[in-house]
Amino acid sequence: MSREDDRQASAERPSDPTLLTDGGTSELATVAELAKRRGFFFQTAESYGGVGGLVTYGPQGSALKRNIEDRWRDRFVTRAGNMELSAPDVMPEPVFEASGHLDGFDDMIVECPECETAHRADHLVEDSSEHEDAEALGIEQIGELIGELEIACPDCGTALAGESVDEFNLMFGTDIGPGSSQPGYLRPETAQGIFTEFPRLKEYARGKLPFGVAQIGDAYRNEIAPRRGLIRVRAFTQAELEQFIDPEEDEPAIEAVADVELPLYTAPAQADEGGQETYTVRKAVEEGVIESAWIAYYLGLARDWYEAIGIDMDRFRYRQHKAGERAHYAADCWDAETELDGEWVEVTGFAYRSDYDLTNHAAATGDGFTVFKQYDEPKTVERPGVDPDMSTLGPEFGGDASAVADALASLAASEPDAFTGDTVTVEIGGDSATVATDVANFAVETVTETGEHITPHVVEPSFGIGRLFYSVLVHSYETDEVDGEERTYLSVPAELAPTFACVVPLVSNEPALVEQAEQIRDQLRDAGLEVAYDESGAIGRRYRRQDEIGTPVCVTVDHESIEEEPTSVTVRDRDTTAQARVPVTELRDCLLALRAGTSFSDLLDRDAVTPV
Ligand code: AMP
Repeated sequence: MSREDDRQASAERPSDPTLLTDGGTSELATVAELAKRRGFFFQTAESYGGVGGLVTYGPQGSALKRNIEDRWRDRFVTRAGNMELSAPDVMPEPVFEASGHLDGFDDMIVECPECETAHRADHLVEDSSEHEDAEALGIEQIGELIGELEIACPDCGTALAGESVDEFNLMFGTDIGPGSSQPGYLRPETAQGIFTEFPRLKEYARGKLPFGVAQIGDAYRNEIAPRRGLIRVRAFTQAELEQFIDPEEDEPAIEAVADVELPLYTAPAQADEGGQETYTVRKAVEEGVIESAWIAYYLGLARDWYEAIGIDMDRFRYRQHKAGERAHYAADCWDAETELDGEWVEVTGFAYRSDYDLTNHAAATGDGFTVFKQYDEPKTVERPGVDPDMSTLGPEFGGDASAVADALASLAASEPDAFTGDTVTVEIGGDSATVATDVANFAVETVTETGEHITPHVVEPSFGIGRLFYSVLVHSYETDEVDGEERTYLSVPAELAPTFACVVPLVSNEPALVEQAEQIRDQLRDAGLEVAYDESGAIGRRYRRQDEIGTPVCVTVDHESIEEEPTSVTVRDRDTTAQARVPVTELRDCLLALRAGTSFSDLLDRDAVTPV
C-alpha cells in the first residue's frame, strides 16, 4: 500500500463522536484529532468498527502517559517514602460486596423507546436545566424531571417522558475459572486492591502508623454514555494513594507545604454563587476552610506537581464537594479540576474515607484490619467479666448453653450493673434466658493494658491519569506564526515530552552527513534520551512534525558538522525556534541539562554554545 493509500484508508475509518474525532472544532476535538493523527490516542479496534469508551494510547501517547506516571511515582511514592503495590485487575465478588460497589456503584439509566440508545438520566437533566449535580437527586425525581422538562432523546428526538429510569451497576462482571462458581469483577477503582491486603501491608510497615500505599493501574467502569474524548471512558488508569493514619495522633508534615497557594472553590462559595479564592495551605487549615490537615497537605503537594507536569495554573482549581455530593463515608472531599473547553473537569478526587473500607473488610473476613497502638505508659483498667458455671448452664439450656454464656459476657462488658440482683436475664434468638447471678460468676478484674487495637482512617488522593494526560495536551496546545506560516506545537515540559530530541541530517543523499547523524542519534539514545531520527522531506516540514508532538529540540547535522573542527551541530528550541551551535562533544551534557529543566536561554550562556 502506498503512503497515499494508507492515508486514504485512515481517513475512511469510522470517526468516533465519543472520542470527538468527527470533525468538531472545539479545543478538545482539535486535540483529539491531533492525537489520532500523530499517535497519542485513538479508538480501540477501529478495524472492527471501534468500541465506545475504549481507547488505545499510541507510540507518543504511551510515552507521555508513562512519563506522567513516572513523575507521579517520583512525587507520591519515592519522595514521600510510601510503598507501592500492583494488584490484579480482577477480584472476587465478596471484595465488592464488602466495599459497597456491588449494591451501590450505580448510575441512572434511561433508554430511548425508539432508537434504543441508553442515556445517563441525570446528565440529560443537567443538560436541560440549572441542576449541576442531578446525581444527588433520587431516581423518582429524575424520572419526574424528564417529564416536566420535556426531555427528548438526544440521538433521535423521541420524547423520553414516562420511560423508566433504572439503576445500572457500572462494574464489568466475569467468572474466575471455568463455570460460574466464583464470580468476579474488573475493579472499578484500584483502591480495593490496597485495602484487601491491609493485614499484610501493616506487617511491612512494622505495624506503625502513619504509612501510605500507592498503586498505578487500570480501573474499569461500564459507563452508560462514554463521552468527551478521554474524559469519560470505560477503561482508564488511576494512580491512587491510600494514606493510613491514626486520626487521633498522626499529623502530616504540613510545614513542608504551608506556603503553597491553593485556588479554592469552597462549598459555601458555590452555594452563594461566589468565586474561587486563594489560600495558603496554612491559612486554609487555620481557618478551617479545609477540615482535614491531611487533605490540605496533599492538596499542597499535588498543586506543585500539577504545575510541573504542564497543567495551566490559570485553568486549575480545587473544588470542595457540597454536602449532598459526598460519599456517605467521606468526611471532607475536594476535587482537583482543570478547565477544558470552558468546562471544569475532575482530574483527581481527594477524600477523607475514615475507617469505612477497613471496617467493612474486617466485618466480611474477620481478619486483622486493625493495628495495635501502644500506649506511652501501660494503663490499669477495670474489666468486668463472667466465668459461667457450665455444669449448671448445660443441663438447663442444652444446645443454647454456650450462646447464653456469650450473651452474659457481652452484658457484663456493656452493663455491669445488670449483675447486682439475684438473677440476670439475657436475650438469645428472641427468647430470654434467666440465670442465677452466682452461676454467672460475675467479677471485676483489674488488668494492665499496654495498648489497644484501632482501625486506621484513610486519606485518599485518587488521580485519573487519562484526564490529566488530556489536560496536559490541551493546555500545552499552542499555535503561532513562523516564516509566514501557521505553526502548531505542544509546549509540554521537556522532562515529560514523549520524544525528547529528533536528529535531522540536513540532506539525506550525502553518506558522510547521514553517517554522522546516525552516530549522534545512537550516542544520545545510549545516554538514555528518547531520540527520533528523520531524514525525509524539507527541513522545515521535519521541524513542524516534531513541534506538533512536543519534541523539545531538533539536532541538525549540516555541512559544518562534518567539515569543520571541532565538529558541531545546531540545536533548535521548540518553543522559540531559536537555534544554537553546540560542539558534538558537549551535546550530550547540553541535552541532559535541557531535559532536567535548564531553559534554552540559559543554555546559550554556556561558553561552548553559540547562538545562531
Ligand atoms: P472517582 O473514584 O470517581 O472519584 O474517580 C477518581 C478519578 O478517576 C477521577 O478524578 C477521574 O480522574 C478518574 N475517572 C473516574 N471515572 C472515569 C472515567 N469514566 N473515565 C476516565 N477517568 C475517570
